[in-house]
Amino acid sequence: MSPAELPVEDMLPQYDPAAVEPRWAVEWIERGYFQAHLPSEREPYCIVIPPPNVTGRLHIGHALQHSLQDVLVRRARMKGYETLWLPGMDHAGIATQVVVERELRKEGIDRRDIGRDAFVERVWQWKEQYGGEIVDQIKRMGNSLDWSRERFTMDEGLSRAVREAFVRWYDEGLIYRGERLVNWCPTDQTGLSDSEVEHEDVDGELVTFRYLLSDGSGSVAVATTRVETMLGDTGVAVHPGDERYAQLVGKTVTHPFDGRRIPIVADGAIDPEFGTGAVKVTPAHDPIDFDIAQRTGLPLINILNADATVNQNAAEEFYGLGRYDARIAVREALEKLDLLVEETRPYVHTVGHCYRCHSEIEPWIAGLQWFVAVDALRGPAKDATLDGRITFWPGRWQKAFVGWLDNLRDWNISRQLWWGHRIPAWYCPDGHVTVAREDPDACGTCGSPTLEQDPDVLDTWFSSQLWPYSTLGWPDDTEDLRFFHPNTALVTGYEILYLWVARMIMSGISLTGDIPFRNAVIHGLVRDAHGRKMSKSLGNVIDPMEMVDRFGADAVRFSLVRSASGGQQDIPLSVESIEGARNFANKIWNAARLVFRAYPGGEPQLPPAERLTVSDGWLISRLEACRADVEASLDLYQFSEAAQEVFRFSWSEFCDWGLEMQKGRLDAEGADRQDAANVVAWVLERTLRLLHPVMPFVTEEIWQRFGIGPSISISAWPEGRQDDRDADAEASFALVQDIVSSVRQFRSRHGISPSVKFEALAAVPAWGRPSVESLAERIQRLAGVTPFAIVDPDAVKPAGWIALTLAEGFVHLPPGLFDMKAESTRLLKQRDEIAALLARSTAKLANQGFLAKAADDVVASEREKQVKLTQQHDEIAAQLAELGG
Ligand SMILES: [Zn+2]
Ligand SMILES: [Zn+2]
Repeated sequence: MSPAELPVEDMLPQYDPAAVEPRWAVEWIERGYFQAHLPSEREPYCIVIPPPNVTGRLHIGHALQHSLQDVLVRRARMKGYETLWLPGMDHAGIATQVVVERELRKEGIDRRDIGRDAFVERVWQWKEQYGGEIVDQIKRMGNSLDWSRERFTMDEGLSRAVREAFVRWYDEGLIYRGERLVNWCPTDQTGLSDSEVEHEDVDGELVTFRYLLSDGSGSVAVATTRVETMLGDTGVAVHPGDERYAQLVGKTVTHPFDGRRIPIVADGAIDPEFGTGAVKVTPAHDPIDFDIAQRTGLPLINILNADATVNQNAAEEFYGLGRYDARIAVREALEKLDLLVEETRPYVHTVGHCYRCHSEIEPWIAGLQWFVAVDALRGPAKDATLDGRITFWPGRWQKAFVGWLDNLRDWNISRQLWWGHRIPAWYCPDGHVTVAREDPDACGTCGSPTLEQDPDVLDTWFSSQLWPYSTLGWPDDTEDLRFFHPNTALVTGYEILYLWVARMIMSGISLTGDIPFRNAVIHGLVRDAHGRKMSKSLGNVIDPMEMVDRFGADAVRFSLVRSASGGQQDIPLSVESIEGARNFANKIWNAARLVFRAYPGGEPQLPPAERLTVSDGWLISRLEACRADVEASLDLYQFSEAAQEVFRFSWSEFCDWGLEMQKGRLDAEGADRQDAANVVAWVLERTLRLLHPVMPFVTEEIWQRFGIGPSISISAWPEGRQDDRDADAEASFALVQDIVSSVRQFRSRHGISPSVKFEALAAVPAWGRPSVESLAERIQRLAGVTPFAIVDPDAVKPAGWIALTLAEGFVHLPPGLFDMKAESTRLLKQRDEIAALLARSTAKLANQGFLAKAADDVVASEREKQVKLTQQHDEIAAQLAELGG
């Protein structure tokens, strides 16, 4: 039986996501609903998924990101756009290589034993066999991706795009090969881009030591946090205007361990205020010193091997020491020579760490590396964000982004790995470089047939920067590319704003001549309910698939979307909130059961206006308000607000009030029953469509019962119906709600069970009287008041009765519902106690001595206390007034 034929009677009281979700997840894809078809007369809407690593399993961050994208994409599809959400995966250079190396090591194999080709072959095998587990998980979450267009950053087309980009930039002089300092990870033994380095404070040391002037006329003191690098010092630098050192510029100092003469130079970048005003210059091991050396002509001495041990360029006594041992040994040697001036320990300073293995990064000359020159690329990227072609959501990211572009340095794209896009550059024995789209047979300069390809691969981000257009067919002029580029939106976390988003914009403008996407939607990180990062060591990791098994994908999606507020950086999530979302799905399900008990199916039609009750008018008006809010929020990428709004309407207005008000009519017979059923069915069907992008499964499963189309996922998004807004109905019904709520609150205050019925008189203003009269039967039932009568607003309260105050009017209740005398005594006593406390607090806050002496937070908490006591006092006074006291 296909889902469309399911009878209404099978709706069990407990909604069971496990029985519904896997079925629809497959069915939607099989029916081809998510596939884009070109040519198309419709407007394009395109999002490409930020490609997860092929090694990955779905974590909660993915679940969030995909849910947000699916909300946008499902709504766009329902709105009639030609919609494409394109899936794919990233080959993830280091991450994947590390996984496969680990596998091999279990077999006792080192990758170097089997060689490059065999190793890469193993990685492909691994990818086919184990990679892409995440694809099934993405599908299970209900994401509406077009799997017929799935891509991989190393598939044939994307590999061609990578070569095209490299060659084009090389020809334009934007890619160059140079010997520059790179961020070197001694553990992974590869260079890293600036964005792959995590800067953290460490407890280090600051050592000040002296260099003796070669002419014996004195010494210069310099300070460093890495004293071992002095083995590679090639200069001492001072500010040209620093009078203390004016006579020393041009002189030399003598290196204490190898006797080298080191010049003292002047450089405008030196801060005379910092330390002694003189700095040691180690160009091969510090990026700032590298720049000084470029300006002043100081030579480079590389004193470290790739594994960060001291090499033979250093004085002999330090050969072979690890960098940390060398730090100790150099300091001790300086001390022996009486050159040590001062030590500060601990000295907290910032050190870069490898984002993968957390080793300290070594600025290092790693032979010739390839770089992307960013000077010509950043300007157009900046312009595109400033002139509004690309909009950041939330907008505050724009400023950070532009500031970051201003400080961008050339991008090192060489990686000393085997897994990835091999750099398309070949070298002949004479050292000529040939860069080509196709593997060349001969040197482009001298024609030598002996060529060796660069052994390195490209930074993973080199291929992912092309993702928004390479996935659509670039560099070919494809129909997909013409139609779907620029993409509508790019949704991603702020942590890769620079690593990825910036590079897509720079490369996109440079290579395609157009921006890659119109909107950059930036979200925060998912954290635990206490705002802490989820981590294995804290034991607070929420596994989305485990949550899907327990509560359903709808629940996971809803709780994530509801928490993803645009203004706030991080997104708190708890198991309880997912459980709450499951309960919400169940609530909707049960509302639908109630509707379908009276509604036979088919396209719901509202009865003519004159047959609508006040509560009908109110409910229809509130639904339109909800729709407008959801629409406005999603237009501004305010996901949380949209989810919150549809939740609030569905639960509080539709279920708690709308359906409750209809129960009597739905249980009756005849035309009025039909009208009531039509109204709630119409509201339900429309609400389902508003909720569908966030909770696709439960909405689909219910919507099928209407039997009005193949799938809600291709139904139309609710259009605006301004005329549905009805201020009179909203005001009149608010009065009815007020009556019911005030009686319910009265019951809970005095512990009176809902089963105890009592009489009530509603003294309401004349304008509200007809509505209250028309709904008197429901008021009696919901408030448990009987008999119930409506009286004039200025009618005198019968003697001894209690008055509940409404926003406009009163509800009068008879005496004897509880022991009023005891209650009144209790309240009076309580009021006196609170009054005493309040007087004390007020006196304290009036005392200048207290205000002057007490800490700010003590004063603040006293003020809070005063406010709270005042509120309590007022509440008790109101209750006493109610008792007529
Ligand atoms: Zn590392
Ligand atoms: Zn050559």
